[in-house]
Amino acid sequence: MTQIRKTIAQGRLAAVAAVLMGLALFSLCGPIGLQAAESTAMRTVAITFDDLPHVNAADPEAPVPPTSDAVQQVNRDILAALKAHATPATGFVVEKRVEQLGPLGKDMLKDWINAGLDLGNHTYSHADSNGLDVNAIEKEIIDGERSIGSFLFAATVSKPRFLRFPYNHVGNTPEKQQAIAELAAKHGYTLAASTIDTSDYLFDRAYEKALAAEDTAKAGRIVAAYLEHTREQIAYYANLNHQVLGYEPPAIMLLHVNSLNAATLDRILILFEEAGYRFTTLETAQADPAYQQPLTVATKFGPMWGYRWARQYDVKVNGSAEKEPPEWVVQYGR
Ligand SMILES: [Zn+2]
Repeated sequence: MTQIRKTIAQGRLAAVAAVLMGLALFSLCGPIGLQAAESTAMRTVAITFDDLPHVNAADPEAPVPPTSDAVQQVNRDILAALKAHATPATGFVVEKRVEQLGPLGKDMLKDWINAGLDLGNHTYSHADSNGLDVNAIEKEIIDGERSIGSFLFAATVSKPRFLRFPYNHVGNTPEKQQAIAELAAKHGYTLAASTIDTSDYLFDRAYEKALAAEDTAKAGRIVAAYLEHTREQIAYYANLNHQVLGYEPPAIMLLHVNSLNAATLDRILILFEEAGYRFTTLETAQADPAYQQPLTVATKFGPMWGYRWARQYDVKVNGSAEKEPPEWVVQYGR
């Protein structure tokens, strides 16, 4: 291990220990200042996709996707971009939507496994856990692993390891948060975190509308705006996490399996590469100490982990500094 790596590793442990003990981070400014410059070369990110096999943000509740061919093409394009950048990824599956696609749904999951990617549980029906009692949440978890369980077993992984709740809702009260943590553990899951949000569904809603209107110029402007927003959000959340924890833990990118990401994933991955990131698995990312502490502050919203850590460790952050997607995109998608 080089001296620089040692310094970073020690700094990380010190930073996390300081946070846990509720100490102010000021005393660590020296080593952390150095670390910030060094850690840029050490940045890693895990790429995750929600709503496998497909979601159309313009009509997320549509029982049947537009056409099976279109859904298959979206998945193929995403897998091709991941392969081109040698990027591991975890896809979070909505079992009900797999069933709606019939045999094709399972074929698409097989494509992910055959590409060496990981699948996780995104619940059976994509219901909002804020509105469910504990028994209903448990049923969503169990029913949610029907397809992925058997696929991962065949791929020699005994069962899916990661669980991500729709909307990142992991307990709107302290009691439910505790119950959800216990349910996840009982069923052998780690709750998947996410640290970078681009509101990709808002851009996808507008993009789908432009495609439906055959307005390619508009679709092109939406893609450009989405990529610019993504570039800014990658930097914003890196700064946020650094401000809260005193170092940049491995980042976890939240994306959805939609037409917009199928069209732009190659360029999104380039954005990460240009910012000095290496791609890693979700498992490796969440092995970082930042993710080992149970969440203690309940919220009915689904904030990224940087904001959750800020509340948990009582670090003041200015969330209003985060840029929203351009208003014209949001309005057009309405
Ligand atoms: Zn989802």
